[in-house]
Formats: sequence, structure tokens, C-alpha cells
Amino acid sequence: MNKNRIWLSLAHMGGHEQDFIRQAFDSNWVAPLGPNVDAFENDLETFLSDHVHVATLVSGTAALHLGLILLNVHPGDEVICQSFTFSASTNPIRYQNATPVFIDSEKDTWNMSPEHLERAVKDRIAKGKKPKAIIPVHLYGMPAKIEEIRTIADQYEIPVLEDAAEALGSTYKGIHCGTFGEIAALSFNGNKIITTSGGGAFVSKNEGWVKKARFLATQARDAAPHYQHSHIGYNYRMSNIVAGIGRGQMQVLSERVEQRRKNNQFYRKHLAGIEGITFQSELSPDFYSNYWLTTIIVDPEKTGGITREDLRLALENANIESRPLWKPMHLQPVFSDYPYYGEGICESLFDKGLCLPSGSILTEKELAKVVETILSIPSL
Ligand SMILES: *Cc1c(COP(=O)(O)O)cnc(C)c1O
Repeated sequence: MNKNRIWLSLAHMGGHEQDFIRQAFDSNWVAPLGPNVDAFENDLETFLSDHVHVATLVSGTAALHLGLILLNVHPGDEVICQSFTFSASTNPIRYQNATPVFIDSEKDTWNMSPEHLERAVKDRIAKGKKPKAIIPVHLYGMPAKIEEIRTIADQYEIPVLEDAAEALGSTYKGIHCGTFGEIAALSFNGNKIITTSGGGAFVSKNEGWVKKARFLATQARDAAPHYQHSHIGYNYRMSNIVAGIGRGQMQVLSERVEQRRKNNQFYRKHLAGIEGITFQSELSPDFYSNYWLTTIIVDPEKTGGITREDLRLALENANIESRPLWKPMHLQPVFSDYPYYGEGICESLFDKGLCLPSGSILTEKELAKVVETILSIPSL
């Protein structure tokens, strides 16, 4: 890896990960189950809530896929999904040969608009097809307006599959993201707030579903001395080695959230004076973001013509990685034929938005270099 480059979000080990991996080697638990898996699942349950159960998996995408299977999403069904997200929120809908129905964001949290959600639910029902699930996302760690979304979901009796891949450690009204949906997905991919190199978790209050997810993730093997199968299975379980990394990471999760929030504060403090640069922000004290990534909007009408791309290229020239915000799913060639309910909010966010280097591993000197580079753009 290029040593001097400032990266968007890098892995940040806590120090004890290798101890847990060593334990696995010493006891020869080098397998897709074992004591590290059980302990990591326990750690996550303890962190999130007394009421949830967790099955760790190979990825967050696998958790979303199993979520759709458990919510009985079949070919031809419709599933509502936030458009402003990473493709992994949507791909599993197509794994089931179901149809995604995309919803725009609202301006406050940048997540699923409850207003367009309700409009879509009513319209799909009027067209004769009640959606089988709703997938809201807490993007960049910012909690969605989950209370409003839940109210609509409950009113129309549609389950929520909560994509909390970016939001471990974020809360709404003091309650952890990842505990609001009938089912939720977490991710421990290499760039997330904590990482196991790759990994994810299936979370639910329904213990039966978590057991079923674990069963499906282990090739759906029935209880029998021989290999007996009455369901299609998947090979989705996390390995005991990888779970060792997870146990070490859980020891430092709270510190990682604190550090990312400090990074966010640093950027706010030093970029506050610039006309035309605004931040994704907590709408009220009810919203607590892990600020997985610090994200800004660059409005060229107020910056004197300076655009998001001008910032990105200036940073790139200084060997600093930054990235445009997620390109909405309904604008992706692979999903462009599916229905979309909205008014262009997420298009505009994509147009003007930028993710700044945000890893908890960044030094204050590196953060200062990012700020200086932005401030040195002529006429900004
Ligand atoms: C990372 C991510 C996922 C997928 O998680 P993986 O563990 O990489 O499969 C899903 N949704 C969102 C919003 C993500 O950022």
C-alpha cells in the first residue's frame, strides 16, 4: 500500500485480535464454527440489546440475502429499497429474482424518505402487489428516520429489513441501529467501522429466525447422521479465525466510534467558514451517528463555481483519497428499469457530495493535511 497516501477508511486493529486467532490455532478450531464465533456473536448481542440474537456470516450481503429468504421473498415479489445506498443493499433482491422498488432520500438524514415510502406502498398495493419487505439504510452511519419508517411498515404490515452495515454503534433515541428491523444486517468488511477483513451478521429479535439463518448458512443440513437436505442451503457462516478478529475489534468498538466522531468534529471546526460546504448532520439529539464517513455537500452556486470534483481532484493531487457519495441505485445501468418514487434528492446528493478520509487510524496531522488541501483551493 502507498505509504504516504491518506486513505478514506482503513482497518484499525485493537491489538488483541491475534490472541484470539492464536487460541483458535492452539485448539485447532480452524473451521466455519467454533468458540470465537460463539463469543463474537455474544459480544454483538451484549453490545446491541438484551432482546436480539445474532448469527455471524461471511458478509453483510449474505445477511441481507438470508433476511429476504426468511421474509419469504420469492421470484416476482416486490421489495422496497432505499435508492441512495451501496449496491449490496439491492443485489440480494435480485438473487431472489424479486423486483426492487426504489425510494428517494429526505434532506435531513439523506436516508429513505418516509413520505415517498408511504406513497410507494400505497401505489404498489393499488397496482395489486403488496411489497414483501422494506430495506432502509443508515447511510454513512446516520440513523434514518426509523420511527416514521417503522410506523408506515407497521400500518401496512410490511416487515423491515434494516441495512445497518455502516451503522454499528449509531443510535436513535438511545437505541442501537441494527435492532429496529424484524431483521437487520451488519457488515465487518475491510473499510467499515470495525472489520474482520470480511464478514457480516444477521440480527433479529426472533430467535427462531436466527436459528434458521444459521441453518441455511451451513448448507441447510438436517439433523441426521448422514447428509440429509430438505432445503436449498448456502455456505455463508463466518469462520472461527475471522471471528477471532471480530472479538478483538469488539474490545475497541466504542473507541472507534468516538474517534470517527472526533474526526467529524475536526472537519466541521476547520471547514465551518466556507460558504457552500455543508455536512451530513444529526437532525436532533435523537440521532447519534457513528460518523463512519464524514460527508460533505459542495454547492457550486455558493462556492463561486467550485464543485465536488474540484475538491476531489485537488485532494487526489495531494495523494489523498476521497470519493463521491453513493450513486443512487435507480441510476445504475443494472437497476434502471425498476420503479422509483422520489423527487431527485439523492440525485442531487450524488451530484454534489464527497466522502472525506474518515478512518479512526488517521492522525491529526493527516486530517490537517486534508483540511489545508481543501482550504488552498484557489477562490474557495
Ligand atoms: C458494506 C455494505 C453492505 C455489504 O456488506 P458486505 O459485508 O461488504 O457484504 C451492505 N450495505 C451497505 C450500505 C454497505 O455499506
